[in-house]
Parts: sequence; C-alpha cells; structure tokens
Amino acid sequence: PGGHVVVVGGGFGGATVAKYLRMWSDRGVAVTLVERNPRFISCPISNLVISGDKTLADITLGYDGLRNTWGVTVLQDEALAIDPAGRTLRLASGGTLRYDRLVLSPGVDFQFDQVPGLESEAAQRAILHAWKAGAQTVALRKQLEDMRDGGVYALTIPKAPYRCPPGPYERACLVADYLKKTKPKSKVLVLDANDEIVSKKALFTKAFEQYKGILEYRPGSELREVDAGSRTARLDFDTVRADVLNVVPPHRAGDIAARAGLKLINDRWVDIDWLSFESVSTPGVHVIGDAIFPAPTMPKSGHMANQHAKVAAAAILNLLAGQAPAPNPVVMNTCYSFVDSKNVIHVASVHQYDAEKKVVMPVPGAGGVSAAANELEGAYALSWAKNIWADMLT
Ligand code: FAD
Repeated sequence: PGGHVVVVGGGFGGATVAKYLRMWSDRGVAVTLVERNPRFISCPISNLVISGDKTLADITLGYDGLRNTWGVTVLQDEALAIDPAGRTLRLASGGTLRYDRLVLSPGVDFQFDQVPGLESEAAQRAILHAWKAGAQTVALRKQLEDMRDGGVYALTIPKAPYRCPPGPYERACLVADYLKKTKPKSKVLVLDANDEIVSKKALFTKAFEQYKGILEYRPGSELREVDAGSRTARLDFDTVRADVLNVVPPHRAGDIAARAGLKLINDRWVDIDWLSFESVSTPGVHVIGDAIFPAPTMPKSGHMANQHAKVAAAAILNLLAGQAPAPNPVVMNTCYSFVDSKNVIHVASVHQYDAEKKVVMPVPGAGGVSAAANELEGAYALSWAKNIWADMLT
C-alpha cells in the first residue's frame, strides 16, 4: 500500500515501527519520525553507566540507519498537538504534518506533582530520577562518585505499573556493587512503595543477601514528600535522610499521548485495541510501548515496545490496504538484570491474543526465570542490547 505514517518518538517502540513499516511495505509507505533528541540513548544498560561499568557513549546511537538504509524521514522536533479529525500533527518548529495513520511511542512523563517538594525545577536538579537515560544518568553517576565513604544512597520505587519492573532492583544491586568495591562503609536503602519485590522476587532477594550490611530493602515504603535541600524523603512511618536521594516518581503515558484526548485508563495509560494498537477512542491514532495500559502481567519494557511496534506495523499495513489486522498476534519479552558488574538474571514470557477476552494474555508454561545469577547470562544481556539496538535502528 501507499500512504504516509507519522511516528512520534524514536525510542524502542517508535524507531522499530518506523523501520518495519518501510521494510514490510517494500518502501511503499512514506514514514516520518519525529524525535526531540538528536540521538537515541538506551535505558537498558544505563544502570551500568551509573555503576561506572559503561559510559554514556556505549549506550548512545544515531538515526542514520533509519534515514539512509530505510528512507525514513527523521525530524528532530517536538510534537505538540494532534488534530485527529483533520489527521494532522503540529510541531514546535511551526510546521504541520498530515498523516494517514499516526503512531505515538512517547514513553512516559513523570507526575512530579504527586511528590510534594519535587515540583520545582531546582528540586528536580538536586533529586534525580535517571529513569530516562541521558544527562540524568551521568549526573547520578557524578553524585555517587562525589558521595563520601559512609554515605547513604536511597532509591524510591513507585507503585506498579511503572517503566521496567526489574530496573530499580538492578540499579540497587549495581550501586551496592560499586559502593562495596570503593566506599564499603556506605549504605543502599531501597524504599519500595510496593509490598514486595515486583519482578524476579526470589532471585533479587538472593542478590540482596549478597550485599548484606550494605543494602537494606524496605517494602511498603511509599514516598509522601521530599525536602530537596536536606535530601530527605518522608514516608508513611519514617523519614530518611540521604547523601544521594534517587527518586523514581510515579509516571504515566508521555504528554503528547496523555493530553491528546485519547481514552485513558486510571487517567494514566492509553486504552488500545490489542489487534492494531489503535486507540479505542480515536481512529487513526495507534499507541505503543510504555504509554499504553498494559495487558495482564505484561511489563513496560524496551523488548515489549519493540514487539508492540511489529504488531502495530503489520496491522497498519493491512489497514492501509483496506484489510483487517491479523487475528492472532503473539508477543514475547525477556528482561535481563545485572546483580553485579558480571552476573545476570533474566525473566522471559510469551503473550498471545485471546479473542474472547480481547486482550493479550500470558501463555501458561511459556517463559520463566534463571535458576541463579551467572556470568554466561551477562554475555547474553550485552548481546541482547546490541541486537535490539540493531533491530530498531539499522
Ligand atoms: P522510549 O524508548 O522512552 O522512547 C520515547 C521517545 O519519544 C523518546 O526518545 C522521547 O524523546 C520521544 N518523545 C516523547 N515525546 C515526544 C514529543 N512530544 N515529540 C518528540 N519526541 C518525543 N527494557 C528492557 O526491555 N530491558 C532492559 O534491560 C531495560 N532496562 C531498563 C533500565 C532502566 C534504568 C530503565 C529506566 C528502563 C529500562 N527498560 C528496559 C525499559 C525501557 O527503557 C522502556 O520500556 C522503553 O524505553 C519503552 O519504549 P518506548 O518507545 O515506549 O519509550
């Protein structure tokens, strides 16, 4: 088919859908990708930058492959607003793009207003999230380097669903590994709003034991307020003063998706049709990746966003050709987590469309977790990252 698809967001979902729309249409469909950043910086592997095992350059890639190999028009611009009736997207640079189909993969934006004390930009410069890879990743690394031996690093985790279920526990392990090697009198405090470890519970519990005396895990610790000046976190029954306070605030679908008038669930995530990833409320607008309301047990992960992108690309090509989307999509996920600079654990799952429930459901018996942390999976984790970056960008 012909036609013009506009994609917002050049991350795991957006870059993948842009490439596959071109590939699977034999370059018949024109694709414009709108991304505010000049380069892609990967969240996967970014915890290794925070621990000093990798650099930001190791996780930064360009968009030349999409441009030159696949003929995607990549615009460095900010998408501001959608007119679904007129099928146009307004850009910060002043232009307007007309589309036949629009794909939004904007990731997440943070709900800073839900953490009193963290609303101002000054507070957000002192108390970092580093939950979008880039400047904050480097800044958090610097805070840890500057921390005295005997200091406290405290990490707060919001209630699920949030971006990357195992990510905070991986970060806690990697920071503990760094501190154990370089500043052994220091402490890692994990303040989890959830009642238990959200992902790979038994394996992370074991990993935390490896950091006995350094790492302390406190479930049921929802953050109520921060004081940026003194780097203090107030919880329900406790107040914690940290040398480095790392707050992952609650988050929701990225602004462009959350504010476009699409139907949201819990006022946070976009409600989509699982056969096409089209918004249930707004024809012609497809949403993929972290911004959607997840199916049961489906994680918000880069791997999953990559899989959404492929189902959405196939469905869009069918729709542009006047056909229905394929009836039975299957998607899968693997998330690797480093528990120290070499040893890794994984969780894998497979999810298939259920025509009765009209949602993608986990396939019983498929997937699983590592038996124990091991170095071989450390090599697999780095290969996984290289492969998925190549799949989306080259
Ligand atoms: P993103 O990849 O965030 O892409 C969104 C893009 O949209 C961004 O580039 C943004 O700049 C752009 N954008 C947003 N709004 C606009 C706009 N209005 N105009 C222009 N551009 C816009 N997942 C895994 O699978 N494996 C892992 O090991 C893993 N580790 C992680 C570790 C950490 C520390 C974190 C924070 C996350 C990790 N994840 C991992 C999760 C993964 O990063 C996300 O699930 C994934 O990035 C989601 O893809 P996405 O396309 O929805 O959003």
